[in-house]
Amino acid sequence: MAKIVILGGSFGGLTAAFELKRLLGKTAAITLLSNMDKFVFIPSLSWLAMGWRKADDITVTLKPILERKDITFINEEVKGVDAEPSKIVTASKEIPYDYLVIATGPSLAFEEVLGLGPDKGHTECIFTLEQAGKTNKAWNRFLEEPGAIVTGSVQGVSCFGPPYEYAFEIDYELRRMKIRHKAPIVFVTSEPYIGHFGIGGLRNSKRIMEDEFAKRDIKVITNAAVEEFVPAEVRLKDGSKIPHKLAMFAPAMKGVPAVAHLGNSRGFIPVDSRCRHTKHKNIFAAGVAVAIAPPEQTPVPTGVPKTGFMTVKMAKTAAYSIAAEISGSPAPASYEMDVLCLMDMGNTAALMRAKPLLPPRQESTLKEGIAFKWGKIAFERYFLWKIKHGLSNWP
Ligand SMILES: Cc1cc2nc3c(=O)[nH]c(=O)nc-3n(C[C@H](O)[C@H](O)[C@H](O)COP(=O)(O)OP(=O)(O)OC[C@H]3O[C@@H](n4cnc5c(N)ncnc54)[C@H](O)[C@@H]3O)c2cc1C
Repeated sequence: MAKIVILGGSFGGLTAAFELKRLLGKTAAITLLSNMDKFVFIPSLSWLAMGWRKADDITVTLKPILERKDITFINEEVKGVDAEPSKIVTASKEIPYDYLVIATGPSLAFEEVLGLGPDKGHTECIFTLEQAGKTNKAWNRFLEEPGAIVTGSVQGVSCFGPPYEYAFEIDYELRRMKIRHKAPIVFVTSEPYIGHFGIGGLRNSKRIMEDEFAKRDIKVITNAAVEEFVPAEVRLKDGSKIPHKLAMFAPAMKGVPAVAHLGNSRGFIPVDSRCRHTKHKNIFAAGVAVAIAPPEQTPVPTGVPKTGFMTVKMAKTAAYSIAAEISGSPAPASYEMDVLCLMDMGNTAALMRAKPLLPPRQESTLKEGIAFKWGKIAFERYFLWKIKHGLSNWP
């Protein structure tokens, strides 16, 4: 019986596990390891930071949903992968594998900018459940005595969406509370222009996003690199200083330490179009763990975002490739890198579509409207339900 080990219990890892089980049934022993005991619907973390969601609304406990599908769940941190004898190592055990799927997401590189981050620095972040909860506390303290807010992305960031959502959401909430005039907002980004998103923009994204920020009276600083964050002030490399009462910044990302040695200089895993490691033929990877080169060199470094939609698609490709190899059927179609994403804008939302992900493209759209906000709320509920029932093959 083939031994398949999956690292990570999120969009990539769960999709790969459920798809492999569906395709291979009892002919494979599937084990999933995660250092978290829950699946977190990460796209809703900004809503948690705003107080619009509680942790229980957007999390699912992993053990019962995996065991119901006859997938072994080990709630332990992976310390390393030994690719030659094909085994993974945790603090308590070594687990051999015939096939490995890496879906460990990112390590957040707060240490790359002085003073960045909620633990050792002076900024909030909304990339994990814990950080979003902390940002919500900071937000509630801020509301007692409002003042200036700075939000955005430092140099090297690839996941640009969350600071956009956060900027629009705080603007909406402050207006709803009728205190927006007490809280000037500055949006600082390493992107060369608003609406670039690390993917060279979408057809009309620059114009639409510039209008949206202007409409909401949010000041924008592009091509920005941060020198350091000190208490209550952001210092940019061009010498400008932005005082604030609340700062929320996205960090750059790297591959997680346990698998970084299998990756490029930033620890991201190089894969082919079927999500197979370019060197180790029984290792596959999906999601944020995968290496994707940026479409262009920007004046201030930026990276390419790897969205949930892309992650699920990569995980399915990895699962189909492994299942085909085990069952001796033809290899599946290559993974086509494209993206479909809903970005919250507070009172409304935007649909973003890019096919392929990087230019030149066949299709490229950004549309704004209230229907997309309803769509985003419905998608959150649907995806959580789908994960609870292991229905990874549903659209
Ligand atoms: C705030 C925010 C909002 C977003 N909004 C959207 C959105 O609206 N739409 C969209 O499409 N995408 C969105 N994304 C992107 C989306 O969340 C990612 O594409 C997705 O989470 C990637 O899934 P993944 O499985 O690759 O990695 P992750 O979700 O990061 O999961 C990695 C998993 O690996 C586990 N892990 C890590 N290291 C180890 C280890 N050493 N041992 C064991 N387990 C380990 C982690 O605990 C976790 O379970 C957003 C991202 C953020 C941060």
